[in-house]
Amino acid sequence: MEIILGYWLDSKIYPDELHGETASVGKVFTGFHGLVNILEMQFGLSFPEIADSIRIAEWQATITKVDNGQKPYSNSFKTDSWNTARELKNRRDELVLAGWNPKIQRGGGKWIEAIAEIEIANIEHSHGFADRVCSLFKLLKQQFLPLSINKITIIDEDESLWENWVIEMIELLKLNGVTIEKMPLQPLDLPTPPVTDLQKIKAALYDSKIDVSNLELTNDGSFIILRSEQEWDAADFLISWLQQHGDDNTVLINNSNNLLLTELFHRRGLPTTEIQNYSKWRSALQVLPLTIETYWKPARVDRMMELLTLPISPIPRRLCTKLANSLAQEPGIGGEKWNDAIDNAVTEIEELWIAEGLNQIQVKKRIADLQEKIDLWINHEYYDPVEGIPCEIIEKICRKIGSWAFARNNFEPNSIFAQIYTITNELILGLRTLNIENINQLQLANILDSILGAGSKLDGYIAESASWTSVQHPGAIWGQANTVLWWDFTDHSSTNLHKWSDSERHFLQLHDILLSAPEQIRRRENLSWHNALRFAKEKVILFLPSKVRGEDVKAHPLLDEIRFALSKLNTEEHQLTIYAEELRKNENVKMIDITFKRHPITTQPIPGSIRQWTIPKQKVKLRDKESATSFESVLSCTLQWTLRYGANIRSSNALSLPNESVMLGNLGHAILERLIKENKFTNNIDIQQVTGEIFDNLVPKMAAMLLLPENQSLLRKVRRDLQKSMHQFATFLENTGVSITETEGIYSKQWKDNINFEGRLDLIGKTTSGRTMLFDAKWSRRPSNYKTRLQEGSIQLALYHWLLSTSEEDFIPVAYFMLQSGDFFAVADEDIPPQYHVESFSMNETLQTVRTEITKVTNSLINGVAVATGIEEEGAEESIFKPVCRFCEYQNLCGVGR
Ligand code: SF4
Repeated sequence: MEIILGYWLDSKIYPDELHGETASVGKVFTGFHGLVNILEMQFGLSFPEIADSIRIAEWQATITKVDNGQKPYSNSFKTDSWNTARELKNRRDELVLAGWNPKIQRGGGKWIEAIAEIEIANIEHSHGFADRVCSLFKLLKQQFLPLSINKITIIDEDESLWENWVIEMIELLKLNGVTIEKMPLQPLDLPTPPVTDLQKIKAALYDSKIDVSNLELTNDGSFIILRSEQEWDAADFLISWLQQHGDDNTVLINNSNNLLLTELFHRRGLPTTEIQNYSKWRSALQVLPLTIETYWKPARVDRMMELLTLPISPIPRRLCTKLANSLAQEPGIGGEKWNDAIDNAVTEIEELWIAEGLNQIQVKKRIADLQEKIDLWINHEYYDPVEGIPCEIIEKICRKIGSWAFARNNFEPNSIFAQIYTITNELILGLRTLNIENINQLQLANILDSILGAGSKLDGYIAESASWTSVQHPGAIWGQANTVLWWDFTDHSSTNLHKWSDSERHFLQLHDILLSAPEQIRRRENLSWHNALRFAKEKVILFLPSKVRGEDVKAHPLLDEIRFALSKLNTEEHQLTIYAEELRKNENVKMIDITFKRHPITTQPIPGSIRQWTIPKQKVKLRDKESATSFESVLSCTLQWTLRYGANIRSSNALSLPNESVMLGNLGHAILERLIKENKFTNNIDIQQVTGEIFDNLVPKMAAMLLLPENQSLLRKVRRDLQKSMHQFATFLENTGVSITETEGIYSKQWKDNINFEGRLDLIGKTTSGRTMLFDAKWSRRPSNYKTRLQEGSIQLALYHWLLSTSEEDFIPVAYFMLQSGDFFAVADEDIPPQYHVESFSMNETLQTVRTEITKVTNSLINGVAVATGIEEEGAEESIFKPVCRFCEYQNLCGVGR
């Protein structure tokens, strides 16, 4: 076997292994990780793959044992034990790889000593990469082992920049009879004098023998800096360029693993390289983290909703749908709707099994299994995030999800199910390694995060055959290419080069433990960047956006060296810079030596808004059963009514938690109803206290979102508001002597031939004079809106008034009660004290208007005309009842929203 070895050759390289030759067995291009794998294989060493999370858990467990609170890591370990353990383990790996042995090299400062203490205490630890390298060293030091490697050819210019363990390994391989050769440095091959801009820049950078001070750049397109505001402009240029010129002598450096670029390539019909794009948000992968999140206090109904609406999960679908529907109405757990949803789902599932022909014993067994699922996913305990959750419960969850994933994988093989199975096992193993009874939320989240890693690989981004070659790093270019395109020429440096102090380095050096020095690392990186220029024969284009994913980015550090070279050539960067947005401005764009022809696409303007709509005559009319909501709709906008009730066109019923107003309105109604039913509006009861108690009891069941830490001030405010408003309700009853006789009563009455009208009336009471009184309770941030509504004529109250009346002359006191503010807005009546009165039309007057208008609009519908009254038109008749277009789901259809 012959190995071509280079620091950056562990990923895709250019030229590839064949380099235009016929395939030959036994010639391998690789980096150091690949070399370690080859040696292990040849020595028959095999180590089971150990997940990093398991090694971190081992370190965390050992640190827990040795930490006496006085260690340098004690404080950070107390705050975030997982990440502290990870950092210490990583430092240990770096030391071990450099040859450190804590039993031999003692001392070195508080951090090295602390790491040594943990390492010694961590007796039966799993092996990571550093340990694998140590095992290889032991074997290589024995010498004359049977190695079938004839020759290693090193392509790197300066091996002294390698990490020390690699240098040592190469020495040992030499002693083991492997021939080590160095590939001669490829000459620059520049003509004298240099002709193209690229050659001149290369001469300024690499050939001190050539006097470049008299050379002038001609802007010949051989060296281009392409700047853009955003990535997609640059991508547009790159794709257009590749479509015209991309060939097998073109290398694209793309280390950003860029999903956006891949998508844009696909959109324009270009092949892409494989991108390692992972997502932890793939729905099946979310089952475990979401389940765990629903176990913490306070109950997270939003997370529960996510869990219930996952497209794939181990929870029975029927149960999920019913519970999600219940949450969509009452966002809480354990309330009436929630419990009903569980009961109904169990009954329906049982009926289904019976219908399938299962016998009683089988049904009983399945019911027991279903109950176990309900207990695990739905009706479980909640745990304090700081005190933690018993590890045995997490294990139980993992086992359930693991066996579900295992079964799914057998039934429908998919790597994601296999991955879930592995993840659940890793979590169980990690928890057992920690050897603790309870685990807190932060620790658990860190472990899970580490196990899930980047998530599951996204399908559909596989390598496609392209004439050009893509590499991830400029160091992976080791031979000449006509063109080098460097995508995302920005600064990606993030490595902390200063984690070891000078005194620690000094100590290690004294003991022959040689860590790579920061300047060595920087030099190694720097040399590799230059490959992009050195190996480019004809053209280099550097793609430099100002923003990546909306964030400002800095130019790659190599640009400073290029600027320096340009200064030697008396040129400035902007002379070689072109701007990608120019592409969008003209049909034919010439950019230095490249001409792009752009073809405009024809666009179709969106139709304008339409006020008057033609509909089939005699088809759209009032239904057999009507309600106040439907009448309000038809009176304010016949188009809205036609679409909703005539054509049955609705926005999709996406399951989501209700908005805040709906949730608080439901909660307020429920509290009021309970106070009435439990007869709490009597003199000797402290209504505020009772309201507070009912509120505390109902919030987890109906409005659990209020319990989240970020909603604490809202929770207190709503509690106070409701206490105050219920107190005002009690005062109203006391001042007026009105008694409540019925809540949520359903009434119906004949509106016209064949049309029945039905309404659910919030509260019905009796005045001191024995008359019926009607209340409608509302939750609104702007209570005064309801006062205005009453003043202008409330359709709903007029219709409910009619429902309760025994004759057209009957006159019943009516009032709005505002649940948030406690305000009462009542139509003037002798049985209601004047402070509650609002000057308004009488209910009978409003009803008369409603009748007249209903006849008018229904006639218009019968005659085939529906009017979008929210669209203004000169000369059009104004409707008495105005539509509220901002809440209408047909805005985009009629044109109001455009
Ligand atoms: S947006 Fe306004 S005008 Fe348009 S359909 Fe809805 S209510 Fe009618």
